[in-house]
Amino acid sequence: MRAMILDAPGQPLREADLLIPTPSSEQVLIRICACGVCRTDLHVLDGELTHAKFPLILGHQIVGTVVEVGDRVEKFKPGDRVGVPWLGSTCNQCRYCQTGRENLCDRAKFTGYNLDGGYAEYTVADEHFCFSIPEGYPDLQAAPLLCAGLIGYRSYKMTGDAERLGFYGFGAAAHILIQVACYQGRQVYAFTRPGDTQGQQFARDLGAVWAGGSDQSPPQELDAAIIFAPVGKLVPAALQAVAKGGVVVCAGIHMSDIPSFPYQILWEERILRSVANLTRKDGEEFLALAPQIPIRTEVQPFPLTAANQALDSLRSGKINGAAVLVVDREI
Ligand SMILES: [Zn+2]
Ligand SMILES: [Zn+2]
Repeated sequence: MRAMILDAPGQPLREADLLIPTPSSEQVLIRICACGVCRTDLHVLDGELTHAKFPLILGHQIVGTVVEVGDRVEKFKPGDRVGVPWLGSTCNQCRYCQTGRENLCDRAKFTGYNLDGGYAEYTVADEHFCFSIPEGYPDLQAAPLLCAGLIGYRSYKMTGDAERLGFYGFGAAAHILIQVACYQGRQVYAFTRPGDTQGQQFARDLGAVWAGGSDQSPPQELDAAIIFAPVGKLVPAALQAVAKGGVVVCAGIHMSDIPSFPYQILWEERILRSVANLTRKDGEEFLALAPQIPIRTEVQPFPLTAANQALDSLRSGKINGAAVLVVDREI
């Protein structure tokens, strides 16, 4: 099979020809149709996340069709359309797993990080961590739901019933979550890179009541904010923008250092917290909600072999919505 391989941090991905993997007893073999490109892939590529295996196949927003199953697989059969997210396996035994917090499992393995992911024509995945893809979603449109959507949704839930929500960074996750927010009658204030008028227009088109640069203050106090961009200096900016009792959620897996800030902007019961990974419950909940809204994802397709170009475009902020690698079809 064709695959794009990361040999070591900082290297471009290399196109390679590998053997199709064989599923173990609880795994399914998936013929990949599409795989979303996530900012986390850039953090792995840049060596900012340090527990990756090498050589590695990146990619943790995989949509494909089951073509073969291991002898103990029960949930899926050949022909089923499935999605593979970031959480690839857990131990089921640690105190996090035992208390409904498998996203924090001490021995979790992650797709496209400790396990080979979806920048390839095929992959194997533990059936217990695969999701059924809701009917009616084309493969490409479904791919960004699996991380941008799903971990974004976990972050979104942590804002409680906030009415005025700030989104710092308006990329793949924000463009999905704004649809959930509008559906639930909330107001979204979108912050982009300063001067990114195209991104601001994109946010307004999707229903943002206000859009501006991250160096601007919103016209109203916010009840909560989610920081999707991996930029530490947005933390004090967001804390200053939220009202008393407001929560600021850092949605990414990696962030540049947070500059020191006066206690005063945290005081009055403002809360600063992060989100890590996902639970399978998050995934099931979100994938059931997505078709009800229904969430429409804006995707920019790239052929599998143009993975380096897709990553570069994401890095330079050139993607409106989500970048998705497409396997086995003309685009
Ligand atoms: Zn565990
Ligand atoms: Zn991701």
